[in-house]
Amino acid sequence: MNTSDFEADLNAAIRTIPDYPKPGIMFRDITTLLGNARAFRRAIDEMVQPWAGSKIDKVAGIEARGFILGGAVAHQVSAGFVPIRKKGKLPHTTVRIAYSLEYGLDEMEMHADAITPGERVILVDDLIATGGTAEGAVKLMRQIGADVVAACFVIDLPDLGGADKIRALGVPVRTLISFGGH
Ligand code: AMP
Repeated sequence: MNTSDFEADLNAAIRTIPDYPKPGIMFRDITTLLGNARAFRRAIDEMVQPWAGSKIDKVAGIEARGFILGGAVAHQVSAGFVPIRKKGKLPHTTVRIAYSLEYGLDEMEMHADAITPGERVILVDDLIATGGTAEGAVKLMRQIGADVVAACFVIDLPDLGGADKIRALGVPVRTLISFGGH
C-alpha cells in the first residue's frame, strides 16, 4: 500500500462525530481505527517509522488513548512504557505539572522513577490540537532528565498550531493525518 492509499485507509478508519462533546467541535474518534486490525497495525508502524532503527528506552503515553497507542508502540520498538496520568491516579512518588486546556488549567503527573536521566523517550498520543497537553508532557519528562527524541500522533489539527509548539521546544513531531478546523 503506498502513502496516499494509507492516508485514505486511515481517513476511512477514523470516525468524526460533529458537535461532541460540545457544539463546534469535530470529535475525531479513533475507536474505529483501533477496531480495524490492518489500519491499527499500519498506524503503529508508521508512527515510529523514522525511529525504527534507533535506540528508544521508553515510550510515554498520555491518558487515556495514548495508553493504547503507546503500549503498542513500546512493543514495536522494544521499549518500556510510561503512563502520564491525570493527577491523583498514580500510587507512588510522582512529579507533577500544570498545563493549559482550552478553558483553564489541569495537572498531569508521572512516577518520579519512571524515566532515568538521559533515557531516550518517545511521547505518544492520539491527536494534537493546541499542543497544551503534549507541551506539559514534554516539560514534565524533562523535569526528571528525559531526552525526548520525538512526539508522535495519529492526528494533527494544524490550524490550532500544536505541532509547531512542540517543534519549538526542540522535539521532532510526527503525525499521520491532518484535519482542518477544530
Ligand atoms: P491539546 O492539548 O489542545 O493538543 O489537545 C489534545 C488532547 O485533547 C488529546 O489528548 C486529544 O485526545 C484531545 N482532543 C482535542 N481535540 C480533539 C478532537 N477534536 N477530537 C478528539 N480528541 C481531541
